[in-house]
Amino acid sequence: MARVRFNVAIENGKVKIKMPQEEYSNRIKTSAKKVGDSYLLSETDTQLLALALELKTQGQYPEIITDDYSIQNVAKQNNIEFYALATFGIRRLLEWVRYCPACYKEYPINNSFNVCQVCGTELKRKPKQKTSKKRVNYF
Ligand SMILES: [Zn+2]
Repeated sequence: MARVRFNVAIENGKVKIKMPQEEYSNRIKTSAKKVGDSYLLSETDTQLLALALELKTQGQYPEIITDDYSIQNVAKQNNIEFYALATFGIRRLLEWVRYCPACYKEYPINNSFNVCQVCGTELKRKPKQKTSKKRVNYF
């Protein structure tokens, strides 16, 4: 069943499979050696980080979701954003909102503009706050 869902997600474009260029894999390997995590990173881990680095270089904002400390370390080293499931809780992680850091106006995550329509400041992203009064703590 998971496999069928996966295939459907690929077919309708919700999931894309991408391989990093070798240049970025090499950069990640070099970086991993510096922090001493190279022996802990699998080939898949390296490719994941390399792809994130490649997307970042292209001006995109990749985020890696992982509880693996080696991946987190190397991501940090390369200024790649990452989030841990264990720390955030998966429900909150999947709901994002864009907001203006200057005037705090919020925008839906799928809007097309990158700057605040009120004051022109570049928008940032944060996990959506729960609106219910009862506070749920995931930590
Ligand atoms: Zn604003």
